[in-house]
Amino acid sequence: MIDRYSRQILFPGIGKEGQKKLSDSSVVIIGCGALGTIIATSLVRAGVGKVKIIDRDLIEYHNLHRQLLYDEEDVKSQLPKAIAAERHLKKVNSSVEIEGVVADVNYANVERLVTGADLILDGLDNLETRFIINDASLKHKIPWVYGGAISASGMTMNIIPGETPCFRCVFPSLSPPGIIPTCDTAGVISPAPFIIGSLQSAEAMKILIGAKEINRDIIVINVWEGTFHRFKIDPRRDCPTCQGRYEFLQIQFGIRTTILCGQNSVQVLDPKVEGLSLEELAEHLKPLGEVSYNESMLRFTVDSHEMVVFPDGRLILKNSFNESLARALYVKYIGT
Ligand SMILES: [Zn+2]
Repeated sequence: MIDRYSRQILFPGIGKEGQKKLSDSSVVIIGCGALGTIIATSLVRAGVGKVKIIDRDLIEYHNLHRQLLYDEEDVKSQLPKAIAAERHLKKVNSSVEIEGVVADVNYANVERLVTGADLILDGLDNLETRFIINDASLKHKIPWVYGGAISASGMTMNIIPGETPCFRCVFPSLSPPGIIPTCDTAGVISPAPFIIGSLQSAEAMKILIGAKEINRDIIVINVWEGTFHRFKIDPRRDCPTCQGRYEFLQIQFGIRTTILCGQNSVQVLDPKVEGLSLEELAEHLKPLGEVSYNESMLRFTVDSHEMVVFPDGRLILKNSFNESLARALYVKYIGT
């Protein structure tokens, strides 16, 4: 065991004591795409005792350029990411307890999924779930490491309940959907999530062993421009989460899906959305599929999924009763 970690123990920031703390620690990684595969790989190799990996998606060919834990076999066998990640990583370090969980993290299950963890790591692709994690983190006093990457840039910050400002201090509310770029609209190149995932892994090690060098700023990088900036963040006095109001753990703030009987359709509704510009949304979606719109609705077809979007943020997925698919398409293309 000592031999496996000898080079890491030699590093003064870790040492024997730090290594012991890592092996006694338990982390939850939520989302196992580009960021999540980097984080999971680093922490399993580093000897963190328990690693739970949660993801709701299957692996697709267009993931392989940046999600370094997966291969073509995984795509062919239609494996969920959480399961493929668990299988690959068990071969890397059999002394770590690795659990892959196929689930869509939401207001109803988040508290159960993070209970018992020392740290939560963000490998997500959407803001909605990050607000849910932020609420669960502060409520249960479990620190979390935010990370996001898109295009050639990325951002990370640590949220340590009771010590640092929280995610909602920095991002007070969800931006109107359709405005936030996602990997499916803006694209992404692998070095951006690789760097952010690596920074998150380093912060995870520091937080788990209680190092004093923990980052308290927000770090913003751009690999195309070759820039690295840090910004001080202040707590926001009127932040509901910091005041103990965990609004995203309540049902009325979550995205809701309903099967529309007789119409062979599923409706997705995000109660937080007010005015959606169909014109702006059409601009975003044009490169991705077939789009047509008028002032009252937008019709969008991609990969044989036919969707209709309304200015109140409602989406209807035609010819389907699949609620989780409808929710996933909503997050992917409308962008919350
Ligand atoms: Zn706050």
